[in-house]
Amino acid sequence: MHLEVYRRRPDVNAVVHAHPPTATAFSIAGMTLARCILPEVVVTLGGIPTTEYATPGTAEVPESISQAIQEHDAVILAHHGTLTVGQTLWGAISSWKKWNMQRRSH
Ligand SMILES: [Zn+2]
Repeated sequence: MHLEVYRRRPDVNAVVHAHPPTATAFSIAGMTLARCILPEVVVTLGGIPTTEYATPGTAEVPESISQAIQEHDAVILAHHGTLTVGQTLWGAISSWKKWNMQRRSH
């Protein structure tokens, strides 16, 4: 999955994958953050699409994120977790933290 990001996004130098319970719950509940649910998230990260489910550890995972990661810096992996990217490691972590901090503030 990480290698697929680097192949698709030459501007990216860091990838963060995590299993935050809130993001995973959104995808399990069938809720998408691709539309504007919270304006603060859209302003800082844009829409956050949810990828198709892919079994962790299989070749399905990089295939599932290939298109979405070309257009977004943050995606939710269906029933799995999150993937954020950035020009730097701090940028990728910052995207993840911004989103999670805003989730907790509402
Ligand atoms: Zn994982």
